Amino acid sequence: MNVVVCVKQIPDPAATPSLDAEHRLDRSGKLILDEADTYGVEVALRLVEASGDGEVSLVSMGDATDVTGIRSALAMGAMRATVVSDPLLKGADALTTAKVLAAVISRDVPDLVLAATESSDGYTGTLPVQLAELLGLPALTFATSVAVESGDVVVHRQTELGYDEVVAALPAVVTVTAGVVEPRYATFKGIMAAKSRTVEVLSVADLGLDASALVPRQEVVSVELAATKNAGEKYVDDGEGAARIVAFLERIKILAGSAS
Ligand SMILES: Cc1cc2nc3c(=O)[nH]c(=O)nc-3n(C[C@H](O)[C@H](O)[C@H](O)COP(=O)(O)OP(=O)(O)OC[C@H]3O[C@@H](n4cnc5c(N)ncnc54)[C@H](O)[C@@H]3O)c2cc1C
Repeated sequence: MNVVVCVKQIPDPAATPSLDAEHRLDRSGKLILDEADTYGVEVALRLVEASGDGEVSLVSMGDATDVTGIRSALAMGAMRATVVSDPLLKGADALTTAKVLAAVISRDVPDLVLAATESSDGYTGTLPVQLAELLGLPALTFATSVAVESGDVVVHRQTELGYDEVVAALPAVVTVTAGVVEPRYATFKGIMAAKSRTVEVLSVADLGLDASALVPRQEVVSVELAATKNAGEKYVDDGEGAARIVAFLERIKILAGSAS
């Protein structure tokens, strides 16, 4: 089976983030593979290995000056990558990105498209479902396990109380929850092999997309720091600790207040 994984290169989370003049994350420094996407790559590799044929390929949109992050997913075992990089996409919002990725994927629709539930830098959690809609495929989200059985994809979808089992006919789009598998480390052989694997870099024109349909409709108008949390209150238990906890829980309406 053929699986396409959406992978995003993000600014190194270890570096101090900065914003540009349009309040957008400055992406001009070192980019790395979003850790959230390593789970999708691992799930894809396991599915292809279990099926005995086919391959894992990658799609990405973003700056292609440095594709080290993409190469690290190739070193895990993906066979090729397509990156759409174009100055026209500066300021691209999630829907614009979904349109671009859909254009790449629809050139040769795979059996399965995987993405992370949300990225580590933008974390809107919207792109994969937009992608599914644009491709006309079912979207199965928050998967903690993914299996393919007789032409169907079967996922355990994380819920507050456990999981739902959700089944859809292939092809489909599935979002994988972080931490559900242990992503493999790239071996030396994998790292060497990744150097020769194809990273196709495309422009908007290469995809035959109408640039006027890619104008972002989302704008960041201002940004402010999140309020810092108060340090909280500290009591030394003088025998009244339990009563104070109950009073606190009543005050924040976790417990119904006692009759007054
Ligand atoms: C207002 C605005 C301006 C932006 N400007 C730029 C810009 O100038 N340059 C730029 O590079 N980005 C820019 N971005 C970010 C880029 O467009 C995001 O990729 C897109 O908005 C998806 O948002 P997200 O990361 O929150 O997706 P989510 O929905 O949280 O992502 C879920 C998953 O979808 C997949 N995915 C998401 N984005 C990509 C991608 N780009 N390639 C492959 N897979 C992906 C990944 O698997 C990811 O984990 C901008 C975003 C916004 C909202």
